[in-house]
Amino acid sequence: MSNHDSDGALRKVKDVRTHVGEVLALFREHGELSRIDVIEISGLSRSTVNQRLNALFAAGLIREVGGGESTGGRPSSRFALNRTRAYLATVDVGATGFVAAICDLTGTPLRHRSVSVDVWEGPDRVLSEVDAAFDALLANGDEIWGIGIGVPGPVEFAAGRVVNPPIMTGWDGFDIAGWFSRYGVPVIVENDANSRAVAEARPNHHDNLISLKIGTGIGSGLVFNGQIIRGSEGAAGDIGHTRAAVASDGPGQPCRCGNVGCVEAYAGGWAIVRDLAAAGIEVDDVAGVVALVKQGNLEAVRLVRQAGRTLGDAVAALVSILNPETIVVSGQLADCDEVLLSGVRERVYQQSLPLATRNLRIRVSELRDLAGVTGLALITADQLFEAESIEGILESLGVDQGSRAVAIAARD
Ligand SMILES: [Zn+2]
Repeated sequence: MSNHDSDGALRKVKDVRTHVGEVLALFREHGELSRIDVIEISGLSRSTVNQRLNALFAAGLIREVGGGESTGGRPSSRFALNRTRAYLATVDVGATGFVAAICDLTGTPLRHRSVSVDVWEGPDRVLSEVDAAFDALLANGDEIWGIGIGVPGPVEFAAGRVVNPPIMTGWDGFDIAGWFSRYGVPVIVENDANSRAVAEARPNHHDNLISLKIGTGIGSGLVFNGQIIRGSEGAAGDIGHTRAAVASDGPGQPCRCGNVGCVEAYAGGWAIVRDLAAAGIEVDDVAGVVALVKQGNLEAVRLVRQAGRTLGDAVAALVSILNPETIVVSGQLADCDEVLLSGVRERVYQQSLPLATRNLRIRVSELRDLAGVTGLALITADQLFEAESIEGILESLGVDQGSRAVAIAARD
């Protein structure tokens, strides 16, 4: 017998979410589900659903949760993703330090630690520190199934490498994924602002969102229709090195990337440190700027407010073009809260189309320091639980997945 006799039959087969990974995806998306829920949402037959649930259960990837709605006297079983079946190790590397975390399979960080190290000291130095942090965070017997690394530069996602990063001396083309090969698990490398965008978008069901990371430098990530927009080279949406509106008045401030007049050269943390020094106020770093703003230092408040306006100018065009529902600001400078945000709001509302800003929300990240590691865990889990990879996992666990071909053909 064959499903390929007519186009109609073939199309029907393709529409069905039939792989084990796709059934698991339902639990990642919806939380708790009964057997009947899975049958209804997936459109699969009862026997196929039973087979998929048995395989996921045998692998320990789903677990039974307390009785759900009663069907004819007997409470029906409900199932959910077994979030602590295995763990994901993630690290969000910034310009002057990183946050490393052990996350569960839903992306929630369970343990984390922050370490100060400058990214321009190079990959060997930074990644050794990351390794040590993972070792310290891992408990005996924790099974790590995936590693996610976020870096403050443009990333060629498929290759797991950074490409021409303006501030990451020594990292260009470095095989970051290869460095972690001793773990023997998938390693994903992602831009820091992209991972933050996913962390803010997914759990809140915001399908269209811009994430701005304002720390020493400026990063931005775009999630539209629920997907990261990378562009053809991974450079999409990088507003930090577009020309600042304020730069049109003169020759433009020199930027770390070698260009002049970039948004970052006016609104990045390092630029504010520079401007404070010019005003006779010495601070070491962005944390020092935030401390001054919190103390109410007039010059620091003025400079951060101005940085917000410069950012707002830069992001206003994106808002008109892409019409996001939310802009989320994270990174160290986001700790200045309204002092920074008021300038962003002022310029975005002034310059974007009214229809594009009617329901737009501009807010500070609630995940704060943990936004990066959370998003990295979600992206790593996405890769891990793709239909083909999950079948590899089940195979390595010796779980019988049943015959897929027969299951599809036998669909009622
Ligand atoms: Zn630049």
